[in-house]
Amino acid sequence: MAATLYIDGAWKQASDGGAHDVHSPHDQRVVATVSQATESDVLDAITAARTSFDSGVFTSWSFAERSALVSKIADLLERDLKVIAKKESDDTGKRIIEAEYDIADVVATFRHFAALGVKEHDRKVDVGLAHVSSRIVHEPLGVASLIGPWNYPLLQIAWKVAPALVAGCSFIVKPSELTPQSAIALMHLIEEAGTPKGVANLILGPGSVVGTSLISDPRIDMVSFTGGLNTGQTIMKAAVATVKRLALELGGKNPHIIFADADVDAAIDNAVTAAFLHSGQVCSAGTRLIVERSIHDRVVNEIVRRAANIRLGGPEDLAAETGPLISKSHLEGVTRYVEKGIAEGATLLIGGKRSEMPEHADGWYFLPTVLDNCTTKMFCVQEESFGPVMTVEVFDTEAEAIALGNDTVFGLSGGLWSNDVAKAARVASALRHGTIWVNDFGPYRPQAEWGGYKQSGIGRELGEHGLSEYLEIKHIWTNNAPSKSGWFSDDKRGED
Ligand code: NDP
Repeated sequence: MAATLYIDGAWKQASDGGAHDVHSPHDQRVVATVSQATESDVLDAITAARTSFDSGVFTSWSFAERSALVSKIADLLERDLKVIAKKESDDTGKRIIEAEYDIADVVATFRHFAALGVKEHDRKVDVGLAHVSSRIVHEPLGVASLIGPWNYPLLQIAWKVAPALVAGCSFIVKPSELTPQSAIALMHLIEEAGTPKGVANLILGPGSVVGTSLISDPRIDMVSFTGGLNTGQTIMKAAVATVKRLALELGGKNPHIIFADADVDAAIDNAVTAAFLHSGQVCSAGTRLIVERSIHDRVVNEIVRRAANIRLGGPEDLAAETGPLISKSHLEGVTRYVEKGIAEGATLLIGGKRSEMPEHADGWYFLPTVLDNCTTKMFCVQEESFGPVMTVEVFDTEAEAIALGNDTVFGLSGGLWSNDVAKAARVASALRHGTIWVNDFGPYRPQAEWGGYKQSGIGRELGEHGLSEYLEIKHIWTNNAPSKSGWFSDDKRGED
């Protein structure tokens, strides 16, 4: 087995020789065997990152030099796009074409941050004193743990690694144990591009085992995490003792509102995509449909018809439109979620179970599912399934649509459809989510900030803010005509 931990500029096996098989969600074959780090490997990686940061080996580079490095990594990613996409498709079970789109997005992320890095970050402050120069400068934050999920494995890691490199941080990457291969490939390219030893480190293994030190070691300054709400809460608690900076991208239960005055055909088509793309394993999936009562039947009947036709299939199936769930336990969780919804009074219109097609027998394929007659108190309306399950609620008034759209502890994203421009603007402004799509659902760009209101997270990735997360801000005040402060009296009374 190839050494797959990258610590202090060297590829290593786990210190106890431990390894872990990665299985394809499509047919359960073993697609890779990778090292499974021990606590001692994690501590070595933290030591390497801390030592490299404190040595100045990377922080001494200018923003322009680090941007050039990130740009070179983008070139290498582009060169290896198909190879990396194949690895990611093996790990996730998603179609190769989708994985190729994802890696193209990874390239775009690296290019965005490379371009951002060469912009001027520092500024002068006019303090109103001719003899004082006052400057705001930006410095690398320190050592960061970068922890990613399995749904868009390399993309979610890229949103962290690219700005961390531009900022000059040292870091330890931990991908999901289910999907490690693309992160391994990225680390090879980071090495090939000439990143100084110890700056970038890779740890593999289950979060419950290798995560503890990554989120609590006092030598870590920041944890940037994308994953579920529960894990995010665990990380917040662990970070308290040493007041680490946190960037958290958590779950979402994203409202998708269709008004009767919308282009209903376009809205239906987008609603199908929003809910069932990547079998709903998308943090911003539009799985909570909120539709104006007068068009409910037309919209829902058509969505059900379309859902019935969605073709499920594995990485190599050119006719497939979406793939399997990531694991058996996830499939079981989505099944329970639907059962609970039905028990609470939702009406199952389609799906609700594992695919029974013979070609899906060895994979974790779950049928596109629609639950109608849902109400706001139901578990299936409030909680994320992270599977292909759409819940449907109705509304009569604009105020009701807004209230439903905001009736969630999450606040990652939402969409609305209306041809009334003023109404669309009012609703977009009233919805408390980090991204709002008007007459669209799903697109994002690395140039625009991404992140959640409320319990969907803390901070923002991408955009300009996505770099700021990895920077400290320092104010340097220089008095060019030093003088006494004159605050306290300096007379000699009482000294004798
Ligand atoms: P998890 O929270 O289960 O895991 C995310 C990562 O955290 C994995 O690498 C996992 O490791 C690791 N981890 C688990 N426990 C710990 C711990 N105690 N300490 C440190 N690390 C730990 O999420 P999923 O991987 O299941 O991803 C799905 C979730 O991610 C959904 O809720 C989804 O909404 C959210 N998400 C949010 C996005 C956003 O932009 N807001 C984007 C994508 C997903 P391992 O798996 O190896 O155990």
